[in-house]
Amino acid sequence: MMLEPSTPVQYVKGIGPRLAEVLAAKGIETVDDLLHYLPFRYEDRLNPRSVAELRAGEMATVIAEVRNSGLFRTRRMPIFQLTVGQGRSRLKCLWFNATYLQGRFQPGQMLALYGKVEEDRDGHLQIIQPQFEVLGDINEEGGADEAEKKAAASLEVGRIVPIYESTGQGKLTPRWFRRIIRWALENLNPDLPDPIPAAVRAHLSLVSPREALWQVHWPEAGESFTDLQSSRTPAHIRLIFDELFFIELGLELKRREQKAQTGIAFQLDAGVRDAIKKILPFHPTSAQKRVLKEIASDMQTPYPMRRLLQGDVGSGKTIIAFEAAIIAIENGYQVALMAPTEILAQQHYFSARQILEKAGYRIVLLTGSVEQDRKRLVRRHIAQGNAQLVIGTHALLQDRVEFEKLGLVIVDEQHRFGVMQRLKLMKKEGGATGRQPVPERKGAGDVQAQPGEGARRTIREVHSADAEPDVLVMTATPIPRTLALTLYGDLDVSVLDELPPGRTPIVTKAVADERAAEVWEFVRREIAARHQAYVVYPVIEENEERELKAAEQMHRQLREKIFPSLHVGLLHGRLDADAKERVMREFQQGKIEILVATTVIEVGVDVANATVMVIEHADRFGLAQLHQLRGRIGRGAAKSYCVLMHGGKVSEEGQRRLDAMVRTNDGFQIAELDLELRGPGDFFGTKQAGIPSFRVANLIRDHQLLEAAKREAAFVIAGPSAELSKEEISLALKHMRSRWALSYGLAEVG
Ligand code: ADP
Ligand code: MG
Repeated sequence: MMLEPSTPVQYVKGIGPRLAEVLAAKGIETVDDLLHYLPFRYEDRLNPRSVAELRAGEMATVIAEVRNSGLFRTRRMPIFQLTVGQGRSRLKCLWFNATYLQGRFQPGQMLALYGKVEEDRDGHLQIIQPQFEVLGDINEEGGADEAEKKAAASLEVGRIVPIYESTGQGKLTPRWFRRIIRWALENLNPDLPDPIPAAVRAHLSLVSPREALWQVHWPEAGESFTDLQSSRTPAHIRLIFDELFFIELGLELKRREQKAQTGIAFQLDAGVRDAIKKILPFHPTSAQKRVLKEIASDMQTPYPMRRLLQGDVGSGKTIIAFEAAIIAIENGYQVALMAPTEILAQQHYFSARQILEKAGYRIVLLTGSVEQDRKRLVRRHIAQGNAQLVIGTHALLQDRVEFEKLGLVIVDEQHRFGVMQRLKLMKKEGGATGRQPVPERKGAGDVQAQPGEGARRTIREVHSADAEPDVLVMTATPIPRTLALTLYGDLDVSVLDELPPGRTPIVTKAVADERAAEVWEFVRREIAARHQAYVVYPVIEENEERELKAAEQMHRQLREKIFPSLHVGLLHGRLDADAKERVMREFQQGKIEILVATTVIEVGVDVANATVMVIEHADRFGLAQLHQLRGRIGRGAAKSYCVLMHGGKVSEEGQRRLDAMVRTNDGFQIAELDLELRGPGDFFGTKQAGIPSFRVANLIRDHQLLEAAKREAAFVIAGPSAELSKEEISLALKHMRSRWALSYGLAEVG
């Protein structure tokens, strides 16, 4: 029978309903899925290494003959030893605890072995636990007839051989996949149309899908082995591009739809520019200038802005937010600035008052713990348009706060909100104002008629303009650019990739708990030098109670026993708003010298005089979180120190995280490692819908292809041209919709 990509795998010869189930668990349901189950490596069995030439330290494929084998029992465990040979050269292979290998090898059998070559104590070469295949041994899976055995055997030597990850408790071996996938390739409908338009193919010199599939599974002898191993052959590139292109096509379409909505065309005249200049407490970095320009030009267009501002901790996002706010306020609109925690909202409120109030802007704070009467009053101010900048937590959207004339929404530390929440939030803005966008508007122009007065007049006088507010989301989680492009493919992205001048890199050390006394001594010296310190107790949500107790205990011990003559404060999420505010203020003013805190300080807290952070149980926490925490120090000119305490027994992954923290201050590097350790689905703490999982692409490895895919998607969505026919576009869109519906569960696209 002829196979179509959508044919269920159980119609592939050799796969019955039972195996189909095993494969389904692996995400392989259709022929198309099967064909995209790519080899995770290749063995060069065309030019295998000769045993005599092997060097210790290399990964090698060796084809050699079994000489002898047997099981040794040492005191600690049984070890299976196999000796293979080529002429007079010998190679030893060892497997630990491998009684199951007894009787598996017969002298004279040919083996393909793969593993890391090492030297044993006597200087002989050996491979520990190599992967192996007995060549020509087709009986493994049973059921094959003679001709098939021959054919299968011919796939195993004298060529580059694909190695698939075995699955189904090892039942589905690499050899099994080779046979099955080969058969599927041979029987695949040869006349499938290529859903990628010819012009796009030409731009990137893409090979056809059919050729790509053949070459990726059965590379020709001349193919570069390095390219194969790193997924950089033309075949790999075509398949990876396919996957990314259709994701980006969907996102591009979404973006188009957004752009079709009516937004506010803010004016940016000399008066507004002046107002911005006046508030700036320092010279902006060139990255800040560039980003503000990007934001300002979005705000000037008549479309709603949807922009993500990414900037590592301390890169100076707050001031950008304030500048954007001024543009909106000067145009007679209100601005909402939302933070993920009360403490951060409060801090923004303080800075906003310091920086913006002197310009006469009216700023209010609205958080969950503001007391009822005050809340009512504040809400009235917001509804009447008296409040121009409204700073708050989620309460701002949960309580359906009515704005008189909302023009800009700024969401700080967006990583805390999660992707889906972000979408909901954007939808809700319209709801919160209770307005529908209207096609024609002229609000901003009205304000413009009286330049410079925007801030002082009551907003109610301004002819109310009904349009979608602009949205700026800011995040300090340095989302790798690649991930940002897919996750936020429907947002425009600005990157603050420069820190304000005068920062010295933070020195980070990992230290075992038994050396705590030295650490406290060090803290004491820093405080004597008139600096301040954080001692952080990261709270894991599941054990919140216990962890809080630990933080409280720590606080008591530090205050009473270790630093009796210093001021040691305590800050955690359960304190009421007043207490939080007081503690933060005292720390800011230097009255508190050591602040014991839970992770509530993770985001945004800004006290430049704090130069030490001691993080307890640092090995238990994620990289992104550690990096966020560390970002609280190193904010002034003085040298800062981060001490990562751990119990001594650290898991391997924990150790990798600590090492990364010690090695680098670069948030982007940390984020990429984090992404590698956790995978995109976990990157934001919880698995979230809407993050595509990939069959062949790898966002870190393939970031250039992702950018190309984005570019080409924009080209296709832009519409027909001399290069691009209508039919090609609709074929691509059709394919995109079925892919989105199938793989990403996001059927609602365009
Ligand atoms: P984040 O991006 O983490 O939100 P902040 O906006 O809190 O960073 O800025 C970190 C610190 O750097 C603040 O104290 C801020 O006042 C200061 N800062 C920001 N931009 C500059 C600049 N261009 N020159 C000097 N200091 C700056
Ligand atoms: Mg911030």
